[in-house]
Amino acid sequence: MKVLIYNEGVHEKENPEIFDTYPGGIHGYLKSFIETEDITVETVTLETIDKINDSLLEETDVLIWWGHKAHNDVKDETVELIHKHILKGMGLVALHSAHHSKIFKKLMGTTCNLKWRHDARERLWVINPYHPIAKDVPETILLEEEEMYGEMFDIPQPDEVIFLGWFNSGEVFRSGCTWQRGYGKIFYFQPGHETFSAFTKPEIQTIIKNAVNWACPIRNKKEIICENFKGLE
Ligand code: ZN
Repeated sequence: MKVLIYNEGVHEKENPEIFDTYPGGIHGYLKSFIETEDITVETVTLETIDKINDSLLEETDVLIWWGHKAHNDVKDETVELIHKHILKGMGLVALHSAHHSKIFKKLMGTTCNLKWRHDARERLWVINPYHPIAKDVPETILLEEEEMYGEMFDIPQPDEVIFLGWFNSGEVFRSGCTWQRGYGKIFYFQPGHETFSAFTKPEIQTIIKNAVNWACPIRNKKEIICENFKGLE
């Protein structure tokens, strides 16, 4: 399996303390726990985003996206290309503030707006324990520090809601949701604010690794065409 991780890498430049929590930056840290003998991982940042082209996406099974400050610096042509490959079967794992990325909003067709506030304590609940993304994940995970994301989250009705987030300030959030667009599987996962440490938690790593396996296409990627189909009978 081939995984491509995009992290815009802007916060790391402005706030080098992020490297203390996430050595190699968010992309480097995600790669460190996702890569195995069977999974090769390539990373790109906003600076190297031009590496994302048709041939790289053709060989990519799952794209992971982390962005926040520079969503608008991602070119529309790049978004169109990614969209085409998702419809052909490439999986997408959109993390945390990727809810406002151009590609996620294009796939959803809504504003993807939500309530937000820094410095909350979150309790994440598994509400769909038999889903493959929840495999080996405990019923509940406590994140001592995380950004509050609250409802209403303006997304189309998810195919599945796997995780529900509760915040100590009272808000709740659909923290882990899936959709299918074309042949591609999409998973949105809320934890992962840049100044906190959610990605270092083994349970969160298990969820992301499960999501990568779930989103991987189960057959060769293929364009969906509108064909004049000859009758078989
Ligand atoms: Zn954040």
